[in-house]
Amino acid sequence: MSATLRETPLLLTPGPLSTHPLVRAAMLRDLGSRDPEFIAASARVRAALEALSPEPGAYAAVPVQGSGTFAVEAMLCTFVPAGGAAAVVVNGVYGARAAELLERAGRRVRRLVVPEALAPSPDALAALLAEDESLRAVFVVHCETTTGQETPLRALAAVTEAAGRALLVDAMSSFGALPLDGLRPLAVAASSNKCLEGVPGLGFVLARREALAAAAGVAHSVSLDLHAQWLRLERDGQFRFTPPTHVLLALDVALRLHAEEGGVAARGARYRENLHRLVLGLRGQGFVTLLPDERQAPIIVTFYAPADPAWSFPLFYEALREQGFAIYPGSLTANPTFRVGCIGQVYPLDIDRFVAVVGEVVRGLGLQQLGPETP
Ligand SMILES: *Cc1c(COP(=O)(O)O)cnc(C)c1O
Repeated sequence: MSATLRETPLLLTPGPLSTHPLVRAAMLRDLGSRDPEFIAASARVRAALEALSPEPGAYAAVPVQGSGTFAVEAMLCTFVPAGGAAAVVVNGVYGARAAELLERAGRRVRRLVVPEALAPSPDALAALLAEDESLRAVFVVHCETTTGQETPLRALAAVTEAAGRALLVDAMSSFGALPLDGLRPLAVAASSNKCLEGVPGLGFVLARREALAAAAGVAHSVSLDLHAQWLRLERDGQFRFTPPTHVLLALDVALRLHAEEGGVAARGARYRENLHRLVLGLRGQGFVTLLPDERQAPIIVTFYAPADPAWSFPLFYEALREQGFAIYPGSLTANPTFRVGCIGQVYPLDIDRFVAVVGEVVRGLGLQQLGPETP
């Protein structure tokens, strides 16, 4: 095993992810935030993001410094006014976090809570919206990274639209790999370091232009005010506060590579092939997935921890890490699990190698019973 592999594993995680060498190389430059080249790169990034919106032309891309959560918080506090209320679909930690962000900002929340392994029900959402007229917005996580579930976004969107409410989507872990076309959300939040395969440090919100224009003064936070951020970028192409210049230069290249790969369809297809080989390979050894295939997004897969008494996540993790792979612990309360990502600069042959290495590690640790205690 080479030292490099041990030092820089392939990240089979929900992000930060393994990135392309050209993306990392783009960061080897110090550009000032007012440099015309940097301003041009910002404009290219915004235009490329807008081209990936559900309805190109109708949405403006507003970048937000920070991790993805900063963009979610900016979206929520710019489009749910103080004294307003929103329905939040909670089928994992990201929905729960959005509800907390809203409450902390003094917005009222009604949660539609669903056990993590199950799908939210459009009928239940319709009933909640019918019962409470004050809920003017609905928040949904497109891919719940907690489990890897692809939330039934289209069905939930249809119910939201039929009830005349605004849809706010956390597409953090799906944007760039799962299509949004045909949907008409008010806004979508995502970030640089997931399926776009940039590095962490920049979130962004795609919002309908008329909604942004109407949101002056709504945000209670200065730094998370999307309206103000948008106005400034539209005026002179500059951020209001120090932008993560290196991160943005990297995202500029990452978006070019995304387009060269073939856009959302091609990236989604590569991730689906990764998913297919991962699930087939690990099931073949006796591991069991939390989700049935029809609810599994091609982003990250949750496996039950083996019932074998010799099982230890830290030992399993260390052995894989030694062979150049980093995986992720599970985050379910009910069952012990672990997660393996399909996204980033990861190709089907990497997954085949990973599956083979898991087989060796399983033998090395003497694990026999790879299925769960209680499936
Ligand atoms: C990654 C992610 C976020 C944002 O998390 P950060 O740690 O702030 O980047 C939000 N929602 C979902 C569904 C995610 O996967």
